[in-house]
Amino acid sequence: MLLLNELKEKLTKRQKIVITTHFKPDGDAMGSSLGLYHWLKGHGHEVDLIVPSDYPSFLFWMPGQDQVIVYPTNKQKADQLIENADILFCLDFNNLSRIHDMAPSVRNAKGTKVMIDHHLTPEGFDDFRHWDNHAAATAQLVYDFIVNHFDDRSAITPDIATSLYTGIMTDTGSFRFQSTTAEVHLIVADLITLGAENWKIHEHIFNSSTENRLKFLGFCLLNRLEVIPEYNTALFAVSSEDLKTFNVTTGDTEGLVNYALSVSGIRLAALIIDRTERVKLSLRSIGDIPCNEICSAYFGGGGHKNAAGGQSTEPMTQVVETFKSILPKYKNLLT
Ligand code: 5GP
Ligand code: MN
Repeated sequence: MLLLNELKEKLTKRQKIVITTHFKPDGDAMGSSLGLYHWLKGHGHEVDLIVPSDYPSFLFWMPGQDQVIVYPTNKQKADQLIENADILFCLDFNNLSRIHDMAPSVRNAKGTKVMIDHHLTPEGFDDFRHWDNHAAATAQLVYDFIVNHFDDRSAITPDIATSLYTGIMTDTGSFRFQSTTAEVHLIVADLITLGAENWKIHEHIFNSSTENRLKFLGFCLLNRLEVIPEYNTALFAVSSEDLKTFNVTTGDTEGLVNYALSVSGIRLAALIIDRTERVKLSLRSIGDIPCNEICSAYFGGGGHKNAAGGQSTEPMTQVVETFKSILPKYKNLLT
């Protein structure tokens, strides 16, 4: 393990740095990574942000996202950068399985590995960590890292503030999840002071749907929502044909699961999508229903108590059946 002072000492000299984040990066993955990217660049480091897959088009406006290297499309260059990096920052994940095909390169890399993350049960691949599973977002931890660990608030530019605001906003469901503490609001207020144009960020994220995406949402609400009142549970099961019919792309299903949770009285919501090579599952809950426990026990995944994900190689109908068969085990918490 590396001490903060040793990391600080390293960062006094120009370093070759790679930042990476999880597969299918969301607003917090991109926001925390780009915030850190701009801060490190501002201090003269050579920085590359490499992501393991594509990301939603509603993030294509983010400052610096055009510089991002998408691993599968530039594998050779990315592997070289990872191998030669003095420091690797791993953001918004704590288990190398979350970076899919990039995992072997990062695992074998000689550089110092710094993990900044808010998910449960870190695997332990890191040399230094800024980890807090009570943080609302990894972007919140990056803010804390810059302001409190490095006493460097004055280096926060509008691009950094915008990136971090986006991360906190998306991971808190626009400041409404239980994780949204007074401290989160104070940080977000400070980011607005530092140049994050909050209304513009909301506009970019929420008013950028394609017509297809909205029609897909309407279709799912009308034809794919199933409510199971006896367990206060609701689910969407979306087939691979549905995805084709509506030309669904990365990010188009983001937020869909929340519509199931928005039905009055519903305490557990699932979005089950047949992505052909595997069935992907997203769970959301209210109160003490442990989505992460369900995902890790039955669907090879994990996450937070109230928001988690997993997958299965079983057929879609079987995954839906498995999900339903779990509900009686949680009857006490669900009803
Ligand atoms: P989502 O349902 O939006 O894909 O993910 C919700 C939360 O669960 C996120 O915090 C994400 O990091 C976590 N998560 C999603 N899929 C997986 C998975 O396959 N494995 C693990 N460990 N966590 C996941
Ligand atoms: Mn996050």
